[in-house]
Amino acid sequence: MNEVLALSLSELSERIDRGDLSSRDIVEAFLGRIDEVDDRVRAMVRTHREPALREASAADDARRKGNAKGPLHGLPIVLKDNLVSPDFETHCGSRILQGFRAPYEATVVTKLKAAGMIVLGNTNMDEFAMGSSTENSSLHPTSNPWDLGRVPGGSSGGSAAAVAAREAPAALGSDTGGSIRQPASLCGIAGMKPTYGRVSRYGLVAFASSLDQIGPMGNRVSDLALLLEVIAGHDAKDSTSLEKEVPHYKGALDGSVDDLRIGVPRKLFETPGADPRTLALVREAIEELERAGAKTVDVELPHSAYGIAAYYLICTAEASSNLSRYDGVKFGYRAEAETLDEMYRRTRSEGFGREVKRRILLGTYVLSAGYYDAYYRKAQRIRTLVREDFRRAFEGCDVIAMPTAPGPAWPLGERVEDPLQMYLQDTFTVTANLAGLPALSVPCGFVEDRWPAGLHLITRPLDESTLLRVGDAYERRTEWHQRMPSLSA
Ligand code: GLN
Repeated sequence: MNEVLALSLSELSERIDRGDLSSRDIVEAFLGRIDEVDDRVRAMVRTHREPALREASAADDARRKGNAKGPLHGLPIVLKDNLVSPDFETHCGSRILQGFRAPYEATVVTKLKAAGMIVLGNTNMDEFAMGSSTENSSLHPTSNPWDLGRVPGGSSGGSAAAVAAREAPAALGSDTGGSIRQPASLCGIAGMKPTYGRVSRYGLVAFASSLDQIGPMGNRVSDLALLLEVIAGHDAKDSTSLEKEVPHYKGALDGSVDDLRIGVPRKLFETPGADPRTLALVREAIEELERAGAKTVDVELPHSAYGIAAYYLICTAEASSNLSRYDGVKFGYRAEAETLDEMYRRTRSEGFGREVKRRILLGTYVLSAGYYDAYYRKAQRIRTLVREDFRRAFEGCDVIAMPTAPGPAWPLGERVEDPLQMYLQDTFTVTANLAGLPALSVPCGFVEDRWPAGLHLITRPLDESTLLRVGDAYERRTEWHQRMPSLSA
């Protein structure tokens, strides 16, 4: 393997600065890697070879003339296929968006470009980000680079697999109920869901708008810090984005945790169905943080048990409304028909996959007149209680630690007929979305020395700096992030 592929964004940036590597060298190396392994991993849905090479040469020219735009100028990244730009099509894992190219650009894409980053391609995902395995893509499933017969997690499974397979040094994903953190965990990389409103959602294809958030994925926590600094900030085009200054995230990574109290929700470690091997790795990770000087305290999150139920009511309700726009008139796929009604019906029947239809049905049901109070309103009340749980817990601790996913990657196909099993993947991740809190997954070992597991860290609103500091400190004391999948044919 080309040694360039093993480097972090910071390391790549330093090499460019020193003149040891050009942007062109780097982009060629990653494109070469995509050629070499992506027919097996199938993380990518589109690769922008020619534009990427052109932009790399332009970045090298700019640097030579002293016009570098910053540390990330000339470095490549891949994007989940639900972030739009007029530069490429966006299919969002759905047949209904076949051929769709947006006339406008997601704010995060504009910001990455302004920082000089090069979009190498778009990554596979569950249709409309609904799923936990990337098997709900209308195109093809993606494989876990650590075990090609297993799922990469989802819904940002393409982004996670691409980073783990070193097809790109970093990626963006989106997280509504765990879709950045769970695939990061299953693929052995780092991934973060920022505070709701920290990053503009403008140009992210909407799934459940009160929960959706865009975030960075990479091989190093410090790379997430670099990327978050670029993509965060207020945006007039997203009224839910927060008017708060963006800190220098990387500056907070000093390796220390001895001033921090780590809250451990012991009860959650008894969640039925959680894999004991995964739980043991997470406990060991927490002990490592203790050895680094952090204090651990017990915390209670009593309403977490209702998290999944509340999440699947709220997200389906919002999805049923958000997805009503796909009627064959303005976007992508349109079925042939004699009448307008027939065209709507056929477009939606043929364009949406099974999971998306299931959610539209569930969401329409829970919002319907006679059931609104019984389901949707009750779910909103639980959401408030979950938020209160965290507020109270953070009176006694700074960061909460638990598993990211209840177990390691499972064989492709094993759970496609069992939606409930898929939904239960989100047991530990949905509460951070319901409460709008920032949360991070960091690699913390391998189940049976083969399948990655993730340590899940959650903190107070807008305190991403502390979260990244803990993740980075853990990473400095461990070597999980340095392992690479062999991907031997
Ligand atoms: N697995 C969850 C779901 O299917 C989370 C998805 C997400 O975060 N986009 O809803």
